[in-house]
Formats: sequence, structure tokens, C-alpha cells
Amino acid sequence: MLVIDNLHAEIDGKKILNGLTLTVNAGEVHAIMGPNGAGKSTLAYVLGGRPGYEVTGGSVTFNGQDLLAMEPHERAAAGFFLGFQYPVEIPGVSNVQFLREALNSQRKSRGEEPLSGGDFLKLAREKAGLLKMDMEMLKRPVNVGFSGGEKKRNEMVQMGILDPRFAVLDETDSGLDIDALRIVGEGINAIMRKPEKAVLLITHYQRLLDYVRPDHVHVLAKGRIVKSGGPELALELESEGYEAVAA
Ligand code: ADP
Ligand code: MG
Ligand code: MG
Repeated sequence: MLVIDNLHAEIDGKKILNGLTLTVNAGEVHAIMGPNGAGKSTLAYVLGGRPGYEVTGGSVTFNGQDLLAMEPHERAAAGFFLGFQYPVEIPGVSNVQFLREALNSQRKSRGEEPLSGGDFLKLAREKAGLLKMDMEMLKRPVNVGFSGGEKKRNEMVQMGILDPRFAVLDETDSGLDIDALRIVGEGINAIMRKPEKAVLLITHYQRLLDYVRPDHVHVLAKGRIVKSGGPELALELESEGYEAVAA
């Protein structure tokens, strides 16, 4: 589904990704762990098409298409979703407006009819329920005044509504208390654990992986994958640290 081959990328002339190679098949969950500054968020942004990140080598194909040649909205319409480490606040735009607009623009570019207001609210209510999020919060401006954990849950409601085929989730577990961690983990499973979907889960901690069990775990250091293994690698990293395991 996603084939990253020898990817090199830089920001402001600073090389961050240095030959990153990774293949994710449909039906799989891959966890990416690694020290601060390794390039995990940079990978997420490059895949999402955030401006300012210059790809200087390598390729990324998504379902056979050249992902890097697509505009961010085209990537989204093709079923690619990015959950941000730091979700942005959008004052003056309610979650409901924002999500309905996002969903209907994606449906339009796929040649599908827009959802009516009533159908959209039904869908939003269902996905908010999955994440134990009060519908009242969806009527508030996007992420404004939300706690860290509420922003992360809101991202997952957004993911549930957009129903992507592939999700990159950048530290979705950071800032979550124990109950929210379980709710988010179960939400990710409910939305994304399907044979035709795949997830790249960027995390510092094993704890999210207790809920969303990865098929493969990779260590990203200095802009490339330096070690790969099964779920046991995450446990090993947690007890021994990145230095010891991936030096
Ligand atoms: P991670 O998510 O693994 O903690 P990042 O991808 O956020 O790492 O950052 C990788 C490196 O890129 C870090 O050294 C960071 O300081 C640097 N970096 C990030 N954004 C910029 C920028 N706009 N200009 C220069 N360096 C940056
Ligand atoms: Mg970090
Ligand atoms: Mg990061």
C-alpha cells in the first residue's frame, strides 16, 4: 500500500531524512519509535505534503501512485490521513463545519455525492461516541480551548469521519491520561484495523501498543530505519532504551 524507498528530505537546508526505506502492506500496523529529533514528525509531514519540506531523493508510492507528486488535498482524497503531533486550533470554525466541509470535498473529488446535514450529523455522532467525545464539543471551534487529550481524541473523531485507507498517527498517545489512552487505542482499532487499511503509528511509548498491537516495529534514528522487528522490539526499547538497542 505504501512503499517508501530511499527517502531523503530536508528543511531549511538541514538534512533530516537520510535514506529511509519502509513498506507497509494493507492490513498491517507499523509502529515507528525513536529518539527526539530523529525525524519521525518530518517523515509524517513529508508524507502529508506539508510545505517547507524538500524531498531531495527517493520515492513514495501509495497504492501505486506517486504520493509526492500529489497535492495535500489529493493525498487526502486518495485516502491518506495524517494525525498531527500538535493539532492546530482553528478559531471561528466549528468542528462540525470543518469536518463536513473536509468530508464533502473528499467525496466530491472521488465523484461521490455530498452528505446531507442530517446524514453528516448522524455519522459525526457515531464517531464521536466511539471516542467518548461529547457532541457539544464538536459544535465548538476546532481545538480551541481543548486540552491536549481532547485534541488527540478530536483528531481520531476526524479520522473516523473521513474513514481513510491509510493513517499516519504522530504521537497520538502523547498527553493522554490512562482512560483516554484506552479509548483512543480502541478507537484506532475500530476505525483502522481492517484488511484493506493500514496504519503507521509514531510513538515514544509501548503503552499505546498494548491496545493497538503492531505487526512490525521500527526504530528511526538520524533519519533512517536502523532496526526492525516484531512487537517485542517495542518492549525491548522501553526497558533498555534506544541507545542500547539501536546503537
Ligand atoms: P522527531 O519527531 O523524531 O522528534 P522531527 O522530525 O520533529 O523529529 O525533527 C527532526 C529534526 O529536524 C530535529 O533536529 C529538529 O530540530 C529539526 N527541525 C524540525 N523542523 C525544523 C525547521 N523548520 N528548521 C530546521 N530544523 C528543523
Ligand atoms: Mg519528538
Ligand atoms: Mg515528532
